[in-house]
Amino acid sequence: MHHLPKAELHLHIEGTLEPELAFALAERNGVRLPYADTEELRAAYRFEDLQSFLDLYYALMAVLRTERDFEELADAYLARAATQGVRHAEIFFDPQAHTARGVPIGTVVEGLGRALERSEERHGISTQLIMCFLRDQSAESAMETLESAKPYLHRISAVGLDSAEAGHPPVKFREVYEAAGALGLRKVAHAGEEGPAAYIRESLDVLGVERIDHGLRCMEDPELVERLVAERVPLTLCPLSNVRLRAIDTLERHPLREMMAAGLLCTVNSDDPAYFGGYVADTFHAVHEALGLDREQLRTLARNSFEAAFLDHDEERRARYLAEVEAYVFD
Ligand SMILES: [Zn+2]
Repeated sequence: MHHLPKAELHLHIEGTLEPELAFALAERNGVRLPYADTEELRAAYRFEDLQSFLDLYYALMAVLRTERDFEELADAYLARAATQGVRHAEIFFDPQAHTARGVPIGTVVEGLGRALERSEERHGISTQLIMCFLRDQSAESAMETLESAKPYLHRISAVGLDSAEAGHPPVKFREVYEAAGALGLRKVAHAGEEGPAAYIRESLDVLGVERIDHGLRCMEDPELVERLVAERVPLTLCPLSNVRLRAIDTLERHPLREMMAAGLLCTVNSDDPAYFGGYVADTFHAVHEALGLDREQLRTLARNSFEAAFLDHDEERRARYLAEVEAYVFD
């Protein structure tokens, strides 16, 4: 099942930084990491809670400084994703995490963009870039970020909303989402991961998002589930991330099976794979083992991923990917 063709729709490029690349970039850029070697750093990746994850996540970003660094980061992810059956990837990045460190948005977007524009030829993966706002930062900062992205919009297809959810309702970003829509950008948002089901509703109604990232907690609100099913709103679930960040106790208790049975358009993704113990095919394996999803359910997840992808401008491509899913023979 490893090579089952799939799209990855919930992937933070900063979350793909493996210890080996972190050390290589640290050395090239003269950044001192507070770890003796990759072994010690890998041990730190086995954090126990959200705060220790975020501390490490932001600390390691210090090694990303130049266009070449971002290009290598994205290229390393795409090379790895290709071995996991990924045929299409819509990749998040967090400009504010870099501009706050003095790295201009242009450095980030141009670096990532260089890897993405060669991805199809090099790795057989079509790509899009989604610019996320950090929801624990101000709405003004999000608006400034959107403004600063204007010269690079040819490389960006959508906006998203990520980082600490609790206490930062979607409505805080109403204006910046309106402005993004006016620029022709599509919209997604993290909602209902640690925040309440009401944030999912608000993301749809106030921000006008087309997809919900995570959306796990919709299950607490049967009426909302009905609506998500009726409107075919895709959910980009990240089961391994939910366990590592303690949204769910164990993978065996993940509601994916119930969510699929309810008719929700579920997709399975890796979120921050370097930190959460697996890339996307590893995640498919894990839910197969822990939840007993059978081959046809895995095929449904793969089919859903292409149906949820922003490929409306290229339906021929979507149809080609869907045909690959149907033709796939499980080993
Ligand atoms: Zn995420």
